[in-house]
Amino acid sequence: MKFTLVPEYRFQSFENVTPEFLLSIGVKGVLLDVDNTLEPYEHPTPGDNVLSWLSSLHAVGIKTVIISNNNQARVDLFNQDIGILAFSRAGKPFPFKLNKAMELIGTNKENTIFMGDQILTDVWAAHNAGIRAILVPPINDRRDLLTRVKRILEKPIQKKYDKIHRGENK
Ligand SMILES: [Mg+2]
Repeated sequence: MKFTLVPEYRFQSFENVTPEFLLSIGVKGVLLDVDNTLEPYEHPTPGDNVLSWLSSLHAVGIKTVIISNNNQARVDLFNQDIGILAFSRAGKPFPFKLNKAMELIGTNKENTIFMGDQILTDVWAAHNAGIRAILVPPINDRRDLLTRVKRILEKPIQKKYDKIHRGENK
């Protein structure tokens, strides 16, 4: 398959990614970015909406793993009340921790998906690992120069997604 940075799916929020949808596309494991995907950088712990969304996935047997490039203190505190497998300083877009996660939860490239807010980190990592990706918009986007440059680089990829999925409602 030709390499692409275009995600397979795009949703307005993680909360719109329902267990029913995930099961319908054959997903048994969801690998998750934290920052700006589940909570903004400045929220140290998961909100009730994050906890209930995770529970709804676990209730139907879908496994979840945190894969963050942030430091261990951030990830440990965020995961304190969740207690799922979690990797910090994951080195995305390299796929090593994604592969490790699949090995540990017993899923494979076909039934695992990655969800994150960054094309050049999360979608790239997912496709490097050979798995599908869900892109969500950053909850609280940063305004620094690097972020603005990244958004400019992402534009043609977002446009390509729009073109592929024109007419679909998601
Ligand atoms: Mg992020």
